[in-house]
Amino acid sequence: MIEFDDKSTNTKVDDLRRSEEEKLIQALAPQYGFDYINLHGYTINPEALILLPEKKSREGKLVIFDHTHNLISVAARNPNDPITIQILESIQNDRQNINLYMCSTDSLEHAWKRYKDLVSTSASKKGVFDINTDDIAKIMQGIKTKEDAVKKIKNIGTINNVRRITETIETMFAGAISLSASDIHIEPEEHTIRMRYRLDGVLHDIHDIDRYVYERLMSRLKLLSGMTLNKRLEAQDGRFTFKIGEREIEVRSSVIPGASGESIVMRLLDPSVASFSIDKIDLNPIIKKVIEEELKKPNGLFITTGPTGSGKTTALYTFLKETHKEGVKIITIENPVEYKVEGIVQTQTGDDYTFASGLRAILRQDPDIIMVGEIRDHEVAETAIHAAQTGHLVFSTLHTNSAVGGFPRLIDLGIDPRILGSSINIIIGQRLVRRLCNHCKQTYEADSKDLDFIKTILSEHPAKPNIPETLVLYKAVGCDQCGQSGYSGRVGIFEAIKMDEAVEEVVIRDPREHIILEAARPQGIPNMIEDGIQKVAEGITSVEELERVIELPRRKKSINNPQNETEAGDDLFLAHLVK
Ligand SMILES: [Zn+2]
Repeated sequence: MIEFDDKSTNTKVDDLRRSEEEKLIQALAPQYGFDYINLHGYTINPEALILLPEKKSREGKLVIFDHTHNLISVAARNPNDPITIQILESIQNDRQNINLYMCSTDSLEHAWKRYKDLVSTSASKKGVFDINTDDIAKIMQGIKTKEDAVKKIKNIGTINNVRRITETIETMFAGAISLSASDIHIEPEEHTIRMRYRLDGVLHDIHDIDRYVYERLMSRLKLLSGMTLNKRLEAQDGRFTFKIGEREIEVRSSVIPGASGESIVMRLLDPSVASFSIDKIDLNPIIKKVIEEELKKPNGLFITTGPTGSGKTTALYTFLKETHKEGVKIITIENPVEYKVEGIVQTQTGDDYTFASGLRAILRQDPDIIMVGEIRDHEVAETAIHAAQTGHLVFSTLHTNSAVGGFPRLIDLGIDPRILGSSINIIIGQRLVRRLCNHCKQTYEADSKDLDFIKTILSEHPAKPNIPETLVLYKAVGCDQCGQSGYSGRVGIFEAIKMDEAVEEVVIRDPREHIILEAARPQGIPNMIEDGIQKVAEGITSVEELERVIELPRRKKSINNPQNETEAGDDLFLAHLVK
């Protein structure tokens, strides 16, 4: 005897009914004079969905499933239903051209489900708008140079379908990862929408995308980042991660509104890129020795400074990693956790876990060494200093232009200058300059003006590097290996000021930058300009590149009277106020 399975039979009946209805609509559509569509095979465009509230969409048994700037695509169960007509008219009032299709109830249900993605901030987690990382890995294999990336993006078909958007996203990320871009920018302007990569600190145009692609790209990227789609006049921040093989790429995105539409900047954080070895960051021997001594100290503040993109965080990780050994407990509080370092407890700030409250919580965990991502307010500064004074080695960064700027910055944040002497160990300043490409860099003999300039700078250099009478320098040329830029990779230029009695005294008495610099001069540590010029003399980078990143004193010298020694000296101090 066959047992009657109620549930399974009901499912079968449902399935049958669904497929019957699908067939019915498919047959009816041409008779009504409409095209038939099955939305199951279609990615519902969230930008289109938000044009009509879910309630109305359900009432009218219709859905807006796609739109370009003046054409919207609507699927309806019955275009002759009075409520459907009424809602269609209200849409038409917005001067939109409508492409009307007929679809089954099942198709509508499928599309309606997507409404929840509009309010949910976790669409990407559900895999709704996931990117295919296997595809990205495949595309990456064909991208070795910027030109490859440009060509691949240009070659994506111009047919306006869903696959085109997916391919654009995949190729965009594949190119960025292959070329080790730090950021992807998409910027709508009046007549064009630019996609650019930041490579070695410099923005490069990759492709102009059209508005159709841009609008869909933005929705996908906003959903992936967990942003709200229908907020278009507010700045939003978000993030998502994906894995390429063993590498986990984290993307931090930021959207801001603009006159021609929203711009998005996506920072790519790739933990595998950083190798963190103090020997790999080209510290000059003087600074290297100073830093190594500082890293042995059991307590105090160890600070790196620099504007965004100066490499201060990477340097901080490198130094932090040097302190990592058995028996030492290291805890970090960061925003974001940019690189994962083995053996270190890394925490990330959140809504209730701020730098200040997190730092206090960390102190209760009995660490030996603490890393605070950034000191940016009074509370964090004070807690960090308190930690440094109570037996912890504390690493952090300050957003200032130079090492010396760190002292007045902390005073500005409300720290009593009298306690800086007993809490700060060292403040390091740095910038990143591009390395000349070894495949194409070209020698030239420095003219007397260049030679004089370099000699003047290096004569102040504490290590007094030897300069030959005919100085051979290198300039950027450009080849296939470096994407015609003449540069490949970057190198840090550094400076540092240690806390000593002289510095402590002026920080209390007169914490102006040039006074502190003067007091620190006997420490014999080269400044960024001297370190940079030395790297020019060694053929690591070019004068032009150095000048792009920091302000060199020679321009000012030509204005001032070159015979005036003190003025030239002041220029060196002035030049410290780096771009
Ligand atoms: Zn080259």
